[in-house]
Amino acid sequence: MSEEVSKVFDTILVLDFGSQYSHLITRRLREFNIYAEMLPCTQKISELSWKPKGVILSGGPYSVYEDGAPHVDHDVFALNVPILGICYGMQELAWINGKQVARGEKREYGPATLNVVDKECPLFQGVDHSRVWMSHGDKLHGLPTGFKVIATSDNSPYCGISHESKSIYGIQFHPEVTHSTHGKILLKNFAVDICHAAQNWTMENFIDTEIQRIRNLVGPTAEVIGAVSGGVDSTVASKLMTEAIGDRFHALLVDNGVLRLNEAAMVKETLGDGLGINLTVVDASEEFLTKLKGVEDPEKKRKIIGNTFIHVFEREAAKIKPRDGKDIEFLLQGTLYPDVIESISFKGPSQTIKTHHNVGGLLEDMKLKLIEPLRELFKDEVRHLGELLGIPHDLVWRHPFPGPGIAIRVLGEVTESQVQIARLADYIYIEEIKKAGLYNKIAQAFACLLPVKSVGVMGDQRTYEQVIALRAIETSDFMTADWFPFEHDFLKRVASRIVNEVDGVARVTYDITSKPPATVEWE
Ligand code: GLN
Repeated sequence: MSEEVSKVFDTILVLDFGSQYSHLITRRLREFNIYAEMLPCTQKISELSWKPKGVILSGGPYSVYEDGAPHVDHDVFALNVPILGICYGMQELAWINGKQVARGEKREYGPATLNVVDKECPLFQGVDHSRVWMSHGDKLHGLPTGFKVIATSDNSPYCGISHESKSIYGIQFHPEVTHSTHGKILLKNFAVDICHAAQNWTMENFIDTEIQRIRNLVGPTAEVIGAVSGGVDSTVASKLMTEAIGDRFHALLVDNGVLRLNEAAMVKETLGDGLGINLTVVDASEEFLTKLKGVEDPEKKRKIIGNTFIHVFEREAAKIKPRDGKDIEFLLQGTLYPDVIESISFKGPSQTIKTHHNVGGLLEDMKLKLIEPLRELFKDEVRHLGELLGIPHDLVWRHPFPGPGIAIRVLGEVTESQVQIARLADYIYIEEIKKAGLYNKIAQAFACLLPVKSVGVMGDQRTYEQVIALRAIETSDFMTADWFPFEHDFLKRVASRIVNEVDGVARVTYDITSKPPATVEWE
């Protein structure tokens, strides 16, 4: 897939040396409609089937002079395209051209002011005197052969360097992080003004290219199957498949008995009736709930749900008979770029490729070929694509929902009545959040049912019922998160509605733990 996209769109190649920020370089460029793609720094240039318009060498945790430090394939210079080295990337350029890199006296971490020496340099147009972010322990202690200084900072006489005659640049700071106030502009300057990359990476263009690619890949008769969950990714992927091959794409929703309130009906209505996706809904609730009986351990619950899903999916898929009389050939998966990045990112000699547990099993057992139309996209791009494909706004902006569903939001044993309590409370909570206009300000919100009883009083009667815990978080990447600061009146309203409207609940609490140390989900 990547190859196809890079053949159609001008591409900036980001070679990843393991920095935690590498993927941000790609993101920033895409924000300017420039297609960028990340590959590990060990990529052999001769094995690329496309030619990049320019190459960026990322930062990295290693020191270029160490034994075993990663180095770039020298063929990158034979491409004859502009090169930009960022931090480790610049040290790598210096190492190759005269080994002028050593440990500095002290680490430099934090802000610095950029002082541009070469005012004509296209890289720095609009960036002079801005704040830039430093994060390094090694430094250049001389100019590499053939290079000149183009920028300095108080601490770095070699804050920016460029080759005297070739289009090769190095910068000590990190333009990809938002702490570098004009870093985005610098990256755009490199891609557009130096590499002359076209700014044509838009979701409108992507739809056309991708539909064509799917048609070529699947051919005129083969058929494709995919699971939908009611979430953004599987809906967008399914709609795209439907646009490409119509009814030869089969979507399957497995109702596992731990979906949200009315979810199966909602998916049928929106995806089937509304979006015209060829959808089959299978009610396997009983099967799942029977297998979950007596199980309290969260990991066991997850395993049971994953394995039962594979089993049910295979059985139900076998009932779908393609028109050409052959077997279904492809499996659709809504993999996004961050998962791809995680699997290709340079983390040392042994790279592990992660396949989603469920999909891995299905591919092997059913002898299916994988098709992943969202593989190149970040989440915000998928959402934009969803809007363009006419998927309802509410669905496009839906909070994420875990695969094991409400089973991990009912703490302890999962029974039908416990699931019903949790999903009703959750429904009320989300409804109130939407009414208050807060849904889009929150990254994820849900209710969970705790396996403890507590004393209450209702209508002069003593009650002894369970506790609902509400969670709502703010986050940009789900790696760290903070709890959402609701107004007290809001919490009061939700608590009162839940206790009044949901039988079996006597008390409501609000979770005020951040991640870390807590996780987003309770199990
Ligand atoms: N490890 C190198 C240093 O400490 C590069 C750091 C980086 O790329 N952020 O200087």
